[in-house]
Amino acid sequence: MQAELAEMLRRRGFLWPSFEIYGGVGGFYDLGPMGSLLRDNLITKWKKWYIQQEGYLQLETPTILPFELLRASGHVEHFTDLMGECRSCGGAFKMSELMKERGVEIEGLPLEEARKLVSEKGVRCPDCGGELNLSDFNIMFSTSIGPGSSKRAGFLRPETAQQIFIAFRRLFRHARGKLPFGVVTVGKGYRNEISPRQGVIRLREFTMAEAEVFFDPQSPRPPDFQKIEGERLRLFRANGETVELTAGEAAGRGLVCNEMMAYQLSLAKRFLLSLGTKEECMRFREQKPAERAHYSSETWDLEILTQQFGWVEVAGIAYRTDYDLSRHSLFSGVDLSVTVNGRRFFPHVLEPSFGIDRILYCVIEQAYTCEGKRRFLKLRADLAPFQLGVFPLMPKEELSQKAHQIYQTLKRHFSVIYDESGSIGRRYLRADEIGVPYCVTIDYQTLQDGSVTVRDRDTTRQVRVKRELVPVLSGLLSGELKFEEAGSPFSSKEEEEEGEKSEHEDS
Ligand SMILES: [Zn+2]
Repeated sequence: MQAELAEMLRRRGFLWPSFEIYGGVGGFYDLGPMGSLLRDNLITKWKKWYIQQEGYLQLETPTILPFELLRASGHVEHFTDLMGECRSCGGAFKMSELMKERGVEIEGLPLEEARKLVSEKGVRCPDCGGELNLSDFNIMFSTSIGPGSSKRAGFLRPETAQQIFIAFRRLFRHARGKLPFGVVTVGKGYRNEISPRQGVIRLREFTMAEAEVFFDPQSPRPPDFQKIEGERLRLFRANGETVELTAGEAAGRGLVCNEMMAYQLSLAKRFLLSLGTKEECMRFREQKPAERAHYSSETWDLEILTQQFGWVEVAGIAYRTDYDLSRHSLFSGVDLSVTVNGRRFFPHVLEPSFGIDRILYCVIEQAYTCEGKRRFLKLRADLAPFQLGVFPLMPKEELSQKAHQIYQTLKRHFSVIYDESGSIGRRYLRADEIGVPYCVTIDYQTLQDGSVTVRDRDTTRQVRVKRELVPVLSGLLSGELKFEEAGSPFSSKEEEEEGEKSEHEDS
């Protein structure tokens, strides 16, 4: 099924390998015409969640960062993976992966300790059996800013968080000097992965959506905590224990560091549910101390169960404490502490960080539905690349003209795709594969009384709609109107059969 899905995603313009005609480069992917629309809808939804509903501020910043900033943040020193380079063939490998295959966890261990474990296991080059040279490889992409001898060293950003920290004074003022408040950035991040082998799951350039939530460590309870208090969380703790309890209980019993963490976990879970993720395919896994990034004192990974890759981390919620603000104060010489109620302190930070590309993949995989010979993407209406399709039953002049007229009207309210090439069955099939929830078809009856047929993607059922179309379609898309109530039942068996027949000719 996975090969079939991958093929469909290429054919329908969701995911394409980057630099294809030059042989491709691992760790990069193009989002085609449909994939990029789906990604945009996903981001819009995320922003609605965190900016509109939570009231977080948005910051947009450069993706190239000067050396000094990343030295202060600890990334120059710590943002490394242990690499094994083959002395014979020159191949490079991420050692934590090679060791994981042998059941040994070395992530986060100091170089000397890891070296010892690797030699104990007798790990050699998986390609040629050669000896491996071990070193710490910094996975940031380095570049330079400006020309000649005055140029400065820089890096492509490994995360979007840093500029939020260094703009903290302005942001705090903008937030009226009150805690807690949150700031989000959505954009590209870069990591020069040693050997990315997991398709869209491990990318060298990726889209991330991060929020930094600043709060007073003496009062970590968000003002609207009761909103999520009862949310059930499935926690896989670092000590191996699994518990399921409410967010309020998790904070109360100290299983998560504070109420702000419980709040952010619940929020992240609800966001994933709103994308159509099933609750049973979701869990929070606590990172072991050695796994955690250098800035974090507690991290929970939100993982989704996928068919192809097993459990995939799609978001990480990290307690960054005052690490970043205090480090930037120290290195820049600018004091980033605040005074609230006569008390001077560095605000603490909780960071929910979402990997948009991974979520995109999970959303597609979960939406992919096989029913008999039918293949379709059961995407939520607010994520689908197009909300509606408009088709003339046949490419006849009078039908096309009327269909175009309806298309022009609907375009003002919805995202609509117009298609008149091929049989109607074949067009339904194409629309199903890109996840269009409803298709509007114009036939000879339309020319007489203005009515159209509307087809439901998930059931392939059709109704003939005589009422004004825009409110009916709005109701269907929002879920406020039941499909059966949109019009009178309409059957067109031959169209569906035609679709099945032409399935294999279509490309
Ligand atoms: Zn080798």
